[in-house]
Amino acid sequence: MGDSSDADRIDAAASDLRAADAAVALTGAGVSAPSGVPPFRGEEGIWSEYDPDAFDVWRFRREPAAFWADWLDLRADLLDADLEPNPAYDALADLSAAGHLDALVTQNIDGLHGAAADALADRGDAASDALGESDRIIELHGNARRAVCRNCGWATSADDARERAASGDLPPNCEVCGGALKPDAVLFGEQLPRDALATARELAADSDLFLVAGSSLTVEPAASLPAEAADGGATLVVVNLDETPLDARADYVFREDVTEVLPALREAVGE
Ligand SMILES: [Zn+2]
Repeated sequence: MGDSSDADRIDAAASDLRAADAAVALTGAGVSAPSGVPPFRGEEGIWSEYDPDAFDVWRFRREPAAFWADWLDLRADLLDADLEPNPAYDALADLSAAGHLDALVTQNIDGLHGAAADALADRGDAASDALGESDRIIELHGNARRAVCRNCGWATSADDARERAASGDLPPNCEVCGGALKPDAVLFGEQLPRDALATARELAADSDLFLVAGSSLTVEPAASLPAEAADGGATLVVVNLDETPLDARADYVFREDVTEVLPALREAVGE
């Protein structure tokens, strides 16, 4: 972010964002990493420590109690109790509240977009009420902060499920029908939530600016969303430490830290 050409590009991207009628952001592991959420892949990733096969939907169905015992371990590593949104999340929440971003689509399951929106609301920003509507935050892979009943759809907080599991209720059961609760994150072998996926596709196709933040765009369907947006003529902005397959099609590429670029972009957009 040091040199003037970066500042110029931030200003130009901010100007496009301000002028956009339908701006959508897609976020991935790169925005959660600065909050201390470990990645799933890579040498230091979750899957280097845990066996992915222990967390697929077939094991959940076969032996939900053992699944939950392992899930509680993984979840403790994934979502530290003190987990908080970082400046990249705050900048995106602020852009949404100010009306410059119409929707946030995320590959992350840590619920940090919701936490950032809540933090903004707590500070008394009335405009942030709009972000409280669930359709503004589209969670492609679910949310590990919730648990949901597979039979009837009853949902509770993951903390509640964890407390019950810790006191011997394994698997934790639905209060309505007694069915086994499942973490509301998409497991291996499960389909992505159909509504979320359809909404994300529609938003991408209808957008005139699409901002990728902290995603290497290698996992479907996230990989194809910016391509669909670009096909429809949207301005494409990519902020990611590593190269992505969409860089060549992007109007702006910032191969830099999201916690620096996004607050700078937010500031340059103005009110
Ligand atoms: Zn139920």
